[in-house]
Amino acid sequence: MPLAPLVGHLDLRAQFLEAIASGKLPQVVLLTGPSGVGKQRLALWLAQRLACTGPAGEPCGTCRGCRMVLGLAHPDVHLLVPVARPKAGEPDKQLAEVAESLEAVMAERRAAPLWGTPDGMAIHGVASARLIQRRASLTASEGGWRVFIISRADRLVSQESSPEAANALLKLLEEPPPRSLFVLTATEPGQVLPTIRSRSVPVRMGRNSDAEVRQFVADHNGRTVGESGLRAAGGSIGAALADDDSASKGQAAARAFLGAVRAGTAAAADRALRQGAWHARGEFTAMLDGLAEVLAADARQLVVSGAGRDEAEAMLDSVQCVAAAREHAQGNVNPQLLLATLADQLGAVAAR
Ligand SMILES: [Zn+2]
Repeated sequence: MPLAPLVGHLDLRAQFLEAIASGKLPQVVLLTGPSGVGKQRLALWLAQRLACTGPAGEPCGTCRGCRMVLGLAHPDVHLLVPVARPKAGEPDKQLAEVAESLEAVMAERRAAPLWGTPDGMAIHGVASARLIQRRASLTASEGGWRVFIISRADRLVSQESSPEAANALLKLLEEPPPRSLFVLTATEPGQVLPTIRSRSVPVRMGRNSDAEVRQFVADHNGRTVGESGLRAAGGSIGAALADDDSASKGQAAARAFLGAVRAGTAAAADRALRQGAWHARGEFTAMLDGLAEVLAADARQLVVSGAGRDEAEAMLDSVQCVAAAREHAQGNVNPQLLLATLADQLGAVAAR
């Protein structure tokens, strides 16, 4: 699947196009801005522009260069993301392992081109720095620009952990080979090592508008972000997508739970016990939110269909039980116990 289109940031795009047209594009750019506003996507848009054989202005999107970048398959565009520390001891094997990990991430992204944040332990370690250096020493296979996008530059190897690898990378950033562009991304410039920061031109990306966030989620997830969702996303498409994802997972979990409750007590108890396997409290509260939404939707459906008052009232009582559980979930209550109690309550309401 090709990458989703870059949304917004029109002023910044115009500035970059102007810089490219006048041959003044800085070769090392530190792109900063809130999480989820499209920093990597903008970097890839730049790569697309440099690879595009279409007319000046926005990249055409249809030429061979554009299509290769949009498919994350351009041989001269290297998207470097933090990866797990290699297990091998020998440096060349470490390099091969990192290259393999990167390729695995790219394969995932080609299949699902709206990615989230990398694993907390993933880094640009010594082997990654050496891989960048090695790739930068090769000539461009398409004969044009080479672009190195180093995402999450805050996770770059520090000089203390490996002076040799860090220095090689610094030298590369100080004197980038001709027709090569390095784009480093980070949320805040202050997160990036001062030695790297001082060698790059800082560019700040702003937030997306609420209209852009809403449109993007509607286009890609087919859902409408409400006012509270927009407020929570704060102009970050990434945050809105993550939130939407957790909301839809919460609803799916809620339906599974309700199914268990309606099937009888034993199944509900079993479902409640399996709750223990949920590590994040956030998932649990997302499930309770999903439960409240599903029940409220069912209640509305009952009212609309003209079903008995009693049934609709029972449904609203269920929503109340969930709301109470949601309140308890904020405190230090065992989720398993809470869910078992809720299963009993919902079962009792259903049996009335
Ligand atoms: Zn093109």
